[in-house]
Amino acid sequence: MLSAPVRRSKSLSNPKRIEPGSTIGIVGGGQLGRMTAQAASRLGYKTHVFTPEKDAPASQVAGRKTVADYEDGRALGHFADAVDVVTFEFENVPWRCLEILARHVVVRPNPKVLEICQDRLPEKDFVNACGVGTAPYAAVDDLKDLERALSRIGTPAVLKTRRFGYDGKGQAKIADPAGAAAAWRSIERNPAILEGFVKFRREISVIVARGVDGSMATYDPVENRHVDHILDTTVAPAPIPLRTARAATRAATRIAENIGLIGLIAVEMFEAPGGAILVNELAPRPHNSGHWTIEGAETSQFEQLVRAVTGLPLGPTTRRGNALMKNLVGSEIEAWPSLVAEPGFHVHLYGKAEARAGRKVGHVTRLYPFDKKPQHADIHLGAKDRRARKDAS
Ligand code: AMP
Repeated sequence: MLSAPVRRSKSLSNPKRIEPGSTIGIVGGGQLGRMTAQAASRLGYKTHVFTPEKDAPASQVAGRKTVADYEDGRALGHFADAVDVVTFEFENVPWRCLEILARHVVVRPNPKVLEICQDRLPEKDFVNACGVGTAPYAAVDDLKDLERALSRIGTPAVLKTRRFGYDGKGQAKIADPAGAAAAWRSIERNPAILEGFVKFRREISVIVARGVDGSMATYDPVENRHVDHILDTTVAPAPIPLRTARAATRAATRIAENIGLIGLIAVEMFEAPGGAILVNELAPRPHNSGHWTIEGAETSQFEQLVRAVTGLPLGPTTRRGNALMKNLVGSEIEAWPSLVAEPGFHVHLYGKAEARAGRKVGHVTRLYPFDKKPQHADIHLGAKDRRARKDAS
């Protein structure tokens, strides 16, 4: 097992703890905020969610909510006054929102972390500056740039908008240079990067927590499989050689340390054909590939975030066994009656009013003994599964 004991650093001071009973402000109202609020509540913290949505998954379980636009300065001011620390569960929070909040209250992770992770270009530059590899990439601001980048990087390649991309949105694969103009149009000529296409063995991710005192805790690398660009299943631990797991963990901790993280960061990576680790994306918040930790690890990623941002000691990340997590996307939710009837299936439903196609509406986790390897197809939903695939496409 790789998950390291928590590494304490003596080099940083130990600023004041935010004690249980205090209020954690969560910007964003989705399922990540919901599960963070649930973990916070177990440790005796109150939560206050700030979201533009009326009946958001997170505000259903938080003690208080503010429903307002992310750039509503007055509402942000009141929210900041009502909480003791702010964290966010959503990457595309406008920069101005966190900037306003940071004037009034401690925001963890620091908004600067989000600024790097919101834009694929500084994100990739940062990862490389940490001595960690990525696919080859180039900035693309117009069709000429794209043609130049294609002649340097070659095909196949992937054109991605720099900002606001998720679950494969704002992306176009370019099979040969003749496809440049169509790809550029398909991403609506937004500032972009071109990336070399990685013929990866598998996709993995590592989640790292870093506390106010600089201590770090990492979860074992996991393997992620996507369907229609949306995460479908996660297997913990990833079936990779120990040296690959160590390299992935080293890359993630180096990034967490250099970015000055207080909180959580998920580092998504490709295991390239020769075994090299290439970072694809950073997410400075709880991550879908860490949901298995709720039942499968001594401390869940959500509790770990609460601990990190309040200055509590980080908890152990040791696995309780092996685990498989399957997302419920769109109409896959219809399988819930049979899933909740299955012993050993830990079912989480997010309380979303509508199970629109492509929307993550819940997940299921199954635990295994250490000597039994989970298979991605172990949780199947029968006909509902196929229907969900169809409506997500
Ligand atoms: P992203 O939005 O960057 O996380 O990309 C979504 C998915 O597209 C990834 O999880 C990969 O499956 C695939 N993908 C993204 N970038 C590349 C790449 N450079 N090479 C191969 N596959 C990629």
